[in-house]
Amino acid sequence: MSDTFDVIIIGAGPAGYVSAIRAAQKGLKVACIDGWKNYDGSTAFGGTCLNAGCIPSKALLESSELFHRANEEFSTHGIKVGGVELDLEAMQARKGSIVKQLTGGITALFKANKVTGLQGHGRFLGNGKVEYTPHDGEPEVLETRHVVLASGSTPVELKTVPFDGRDIVDSWGALEFDAVPKRLGVIGGGVIGLELGSVWKRLGAEVTVLEAMDRFLFMADQQIAKDAQRQFKKQGLDIRLGALVQGAEKGPDGIKLTYEDGKGTQTLHVDKVIVAVGRRPYTEGLLGEDTGVKLDDRGFVVVDDECRTGVENVWAIGDLVRGPMLAHKGSEEGVMVADLIAGEFSEVNYAVIPSVVYTAPEIAWVGKTEEEVKADGTDYKVGTFPFAASGRAKAMEQAAGLVKVISATRDDEILGVHIVGPMAGELIGEMVVAMEFQASTEDLQRTIHAHPTLSEALHEATLSADKRAIHAINK
Ligand code: FAD
Ligand code: NAD
Repeated sequence: MSDTFDVIIIGAGPAGYVSAIRAAQKGLKVACIDGWKNYDGSTAFGGTCLNAGCIPSKALLESSELFHRANEEFSTHGIKVGGVELDLEAMQARKGSIVKQLTGGITALFKANKVTGLQGHGRFLGNGKVEYTPHDGEPEVLETRHVVLASGSTPVELKTVPFDGRDIVDSWGALEFDAVPKRLGVIGGGVIGLELGSVWKRLGAEVTVLEAMDRFLFMADQQIAKDAQRQFKKQGLDIRLGALVQGAEKGPDGIKLTYEDGKGTQTLHVDKVIVAVGRRPYTEGLLGEDTGVKLDDRGFVVVDDECRTGVENVWAIGDLVRGPMLAHKGSEEGVMVADLIAGEFSEVNYAVIPSVVYTAPEIAWVGKTEEEVKADGTDYKVGTFPFAASGRAKAMEQAAGLVKVISATRDDEILGVHIVGPMAGELIGEMVVAMEFQASTEDLQRTIHAHPTLSEALHEATLSADKRAIHAINK
């Protein structure tokens, strides 16, 4: 490979591979280097998201929810299913096949867009030079006009509860269990803890979630978080707040977890532990000496709003940089950077990035929480609508939860939307579009929603903000 590239991207997760495709679509000569290796030693593009994150977790969430419904809900619909059995091997194989199809799709997209996909290690050396070391090959130095760093993130390990790859695992290990643990301890009641805790709970595990914070889902609107917490409790998820884990000890009765809460030192005996206490940026072996690229005190590559590192023609995107660790956030940064390199205008609207927790019920939001709006000192109004009053939610037998819309009193602009309930992750999309166009509550009030759909709950919540909801009592 003696030619000079226009762009070399290090990392082919949703940030890197999307950036590579966009840059190639702009007519740039692009290489994307990725070092991902699966447990079986196979390689694949797609990074954490496709191989060990978003996609495999959603595959298992879907399967486990169907298993749960077949056992617990079908009879309510008048459907008798005797002898529902779990075939975990088949469930895992289905998950694996989805991952393979999607990662294979990226290889095909690279080919179709003439992206040079390289598998191995990439290291930025400075001055337009990137060292590429193929898996089982010799390093070579590639030349490029621009470098995009997109090496992603890795799970945080607790010193007191180190991973052993078998009984004490990270989220990837928890996606690969070959048997349902009888007693499962989850350290961290964040997004991963709730999603993977839900998967194994539905498949039969006794799940206890130990969360250090006193507040459940502290980043979410607290009215929504409280509603969700109540529903998880009803499902039998044992969520213990204010529980700071101190250590783990293996013994004849499985693993003894020790934690401190408001009442003192407590213990919990489990068979498997998932540690899900956050992720940190991954920069091992990424940078040569004196590249000028700066890391902050938490290890994130420092960038400005346009993902420039401050070193000319060196950019960084995705989990490697500040902002929420979300696939769609990284992808949009990848698109922006490719457009900017091509000399076009581009930007990411960081104020309107949706978040979704794919539990049942789903939790989704965009914009500010009520706590944040209050702290800003903005005068605001709130509209809510319960799914209990939605005909469609009732028909689906999923009528718990609510929609909450927060708008500015001054000009009626929607500031935040928060949902706990069925298909919340799909519903939030409408509100993302609305907020991107700076819609007011009135704009939504005047929009016709098909009946009977879940989206009517969004409409009614905006009406409720002005005490005009039709299908709920206005308070
Ligand atoms: P990554 O996806 O981590 O990709 C980085 C790639 O770079 C990897 O392939 C890595 O091997 C490679 N790499 C690193 N260093 C080098 C190097 N020096 N040379 C070559 N290659 C290198 N987000 C969502 O938005 N929705 C979800 O539903 C969701 N679910 C998740 C579930 C789980 C269990 C987990 C763990 C995460 C989930 N996330 C989800 C978060 C999401 O996976 C990340 O935000 C996203 O993958 C970040 O993309 P990225 O491209 O920045 O990094
Ligand atoms: P997180 O930050 O969402 O949650 C970690 C939780 O662990 C926090 O609530 C924290 O208070 C708690 N914690 C930290 N130390 C602890 C300790 N010693 N004892 C008990 N609790 C402790 O992180 P995560 O769940 O690991 O997820 C990592 C990232 O992956 C997140 O930033 C998230 O954005 C992303 N992700 C997104 C999705 C999604 O979009 N649906 C799904 C999975 C992961």
